[in-house]
Amino acid sequence: MAASSRIPPKIRAAVLVRDGFACVAPRIDGQCGQCRDLWGHPIMRWPQRDRGPEFLQMSHEKEDGELSMSLKATPTLQHLVTLCPQHHTGAVAGGVWEVQNRDRIRRWLLEKYPAPLKDVEA
Ligand SMILES: [Zn+2]
Repeated sequence: MAASSRIPPKIRAAVLVRDGFACVAPRIDGQCGQCRDLWGHPIMRWPQRDRGPEFLQMSHEKEDGELSMSLKATPTLQHLVTLCPQHHTGAVAGGVWEVQNRDRIRRWLLEKYPAPLKDVEA
């Protein structure tokens, strides 16, 4: 199965709708700190639309045991979560939140979506 780092627009849209057009980090980790945009400004509100990767990015989460055939997991709904730039790649005191919390993100996805979801047609 060929995995691509490019996320089809329809899948991005479906993940954003599922996650309420908001970073999921505060729902997973109450101590995750402030969500921030690409410029480091705090995100105070979440308009219900896609404002672009400057505000919301997609994080690919591999399933346990998935072979590292590619750098990214297959871009399907159950492999993707919405994160603000701060929680996706922003460096904070202890490191990058997404990297430190991959297991928690995976568990959150499994709890929220225990059954395989039908993939959105790209
Ligand atoms: Zn965030």
